[in-house]
Amino acid sequence: MRAGMVAAIAAAQQESEGYPKGSTVLCAQCFTPLFTLTRTITPGEKANRTASAYRPVTVHDIRRLRRDVPGVAAALKLWTSADEIAHEARLEAPASGSPAVCPCCQKSFVQVFAPGADEVIDQAYTWRLVTIPPLAGPLPVRSSEVQFG
Ligand SMILES: [Zn+2]
Repeated sequence: MRAGMVAAIAAAQQESEGYPKGSTVLCAQCFTPLFTLTRTITPGEKANRTASAYRPVTVHDIRRLRRDVPGVAAALKLWTSADEIAHEARLEAPASGSPAVCPCCQKSFVQVFAPGADEVIDQAYTWRLVTIPPLAGPLPVRSSEVQFG
């Protein structure tokens, strides 16, 4: 359910305005918060052009997300304060051309997929982030607020 909600929000964003500045990027595999976007990533932007947009999350960010976003609170339920500090310490901003590897699960934090099995492989692959929208208000966006189609 948590994954479905996050994925639905991410999919809705991808098709509309991309990923807004201030969004939190979660690992697509383990849902650990990894980065905050320092600028908006526009739809269709090439993944390797976006390296400058990512700022590693801080302990402050992690605590705020755990407090305000139930899905993050659940994903990090067992984390101690020392875990939060260690996570901040091991995160590095991605460099252009470096693999998008999550330091927690060692898998790619970006979802890469082919739109259709009959597409030409060269150009068919695209990518998607799992994100939480900017926490502008007192509550994060709920799944019921996502508009489809
Ligand atoms: Zn991960």
